[in-house]
Amino acid sequence: MTPEPPAIEVSGLSYRYGDRVALRELDFSILPGEIVGILGPNGSGKTTLFRILATLYPPQEGRVCVCGHPYPERVAVVREKLGVVFQAPSLDKKLTVYENLLHQGHLYGLCGKELALRIGYLLEVFRIHDRARDLVENLSGGLQRRVELAKGILHAPELLLMDEPTTGLDPLARREFWSFLQELQAEEDLTIIVTTHLMDEADRCDRLLVLDQGQLVAMDTPAHLRSLVSGTILLIRSPAPNELASRLKETLGREVLCEDGTLRLETEAESSQEEVTQLVGELLSRFRDKIESLTVAQPTLEDAFIRLTGHRFERNEQRENHG
Ligand code: ADP
Ligand code: MG
Repeated sequence: MTPEPPAIEVSGLSYRYGDRVALRELDFSILPGEIVGILGPNGSGKTTLFRILATLYPPQEGRVCVCGHPYPERVAVVREKLGVVFQAPSLDKKLTVYENLLHQGHLYGLCGKELALRIGYLLEVFRIHDRARDLVENLSGGLQRRVELAKGILHAPELLLMDEPTTGLDPLARREFWSFLQELQAEEDLTIIVTTHLMDEADRCDRLLVLDQGQLVAMDTPAHLRSLVSGTILLIRSPAPNELASRLKETLGREVLCEDGTLRLETEAESSQEEVTQLVGELLSRFRDKIESLTVAQPTLEDAFIRLTGHRFERNEQRENHG
């Protein structure tokens, strides 16, 4: 038996918009059945990579293979294997849920009983059966996203690609969406690739491809990435952050990151709770007048990102746009 080819294999992939380099020499592969998150801050190249994998942009340099078929050479075969969910809504809001799915089916050459069965099955899976005859515009954001998902996998693709699919959803709807994804992965034997800038989503992926300024800085499981940071994290707000940062550096001999008026430092690897408490007490007594607040935190994926890149994830505190 020949082994199954990777779902995605990319080597030496670069992409530019004019002079602006959006992706730099990416090499990675994705196994069949994985949920892989493409994690990176705004502008890191996620959508560009998504568009290339979704066969909207041909690669300018390097090789891309989907289920063993090279893109762009075999674009028609590659497209059959792919289901795509875009960041912007793609449903026709003046049509019903059922009509939207029906048209999508026709687009892929499905019809009749086969199509009706498939739609019925997906409506069940996504628990939107009772809303099938409703206009899409009358559904909540969370339900509309489920219909998008049903639309994306209507033709039973091997690989599902999604660009920030939970944009605009509240945390509850987001968690629900992810439960559906995990169910799908198990039931449809699907490889799922999803871009995100949200750490809670990233944590639910099997592996993360971490992008920063168009470069692949890591590809590993969330647990492995978090374990890059073994100490405890101290976050200090200060009225004089730069001065405090340099004094802390002198005193502790450790790197102190300072952004947006908050200092972030990692204690010695494997410090005990007593050692952390002692350090906090010491900092508070020595630098009382320069500390507004001090928070003790366990390392997160964000800390792993800082470790990998030397800077914070969202540098100007970009917030998600709920709308
Ligand atoms: P992300 O999805 O992670 O926010 P993008 O792939 O959209 O990142 O963008 C990567 C970089 O390419 C950014 O610097 C962005 O400004 C730039 N870029 C994206 N699309 C275009 C475009 N159509 N023309 C010029 N520059 C672009
Ligand atoms: Mg994007």
